[in-house]
Amino acid sequence: MAVKRWRGPEPGWCDICDNLLDHVDDKQWFVDGKLKGMTHRWTLMCPDCYELYGAGLGLGKGQKYSVNEPYEKLERDKNDTFNQR
Ligand SMILES: [Zn+2]
Repeated sequence: MAVKRWRGPEPGWCDICDNLLDHVDDKQWFVDGKLKGMTHRWTLMCPDCYELYGAGLGLGKGQKYSVNEPYEKLERDKNDTFNQR
């Protein structure tokens, strides 16, 4: 089975704070997903911005990818509080 991965151009900067997506050293991931309260806007978020503005992970909400090549899709965290509502 093929590994799912980010298929866009090389992810670089967070759309919200303009920091590099990998600027949070202990969280080498980013999220391509929806913003809280906005149904159509998808954006690239660094971990910090995801925690503040992300609508959560899952189908139709957001996907989490590694910031390191080959940008594999990551499983969602079991303790991700955004999934509990
Ligand atoms: Zn950010």
